[in-house]
Amino acid sequence: MTNENFSRRKLLERSLQLPLGGMLLATAATVQTAQAADAVCADLSKLPGDQRGLRESLNYVEKSMDPTMNCGKCGLFEAKGTGCGHCMIFSGPANFGGHCDSWSPKA
Ligand code: SF4
Repeated sequence: MTNENFSRRKLLERSLQLPLGGMLLATAATVQTAQAADAVCADLSKLPGDQRGLRESLNYVEKSMDPTMNCGKCGLFEAKGTGCGHCMIFSGPANFGGHCDSWSPKA
């Protein structure tokens, strides 16, 4: 094996390793986000009555039926890492993957 072949081989190996590493990181991030979205952010049984009533009147759910219209894509949602964030309407926790009747798209 010549140095030139060695260099080409190494270059080819490296060029294959970088995209594979990126794909693994992206997959891990997706799994982490999905797991976080499955977390219960606003346990209705543990919220004060007024907080619970507002959520119930706006039909808040922890998991949106339509992933294109979830809290993470709502203009009233403030993300705090992955999963649970803050809803400006409720002045409290909401799930990144959640939804309520006041959903409005981010500007
Ligand atoms: S208004 Fe509704 S959809 Fe928007 S962040 Fe709050 S709970 Fe989620």
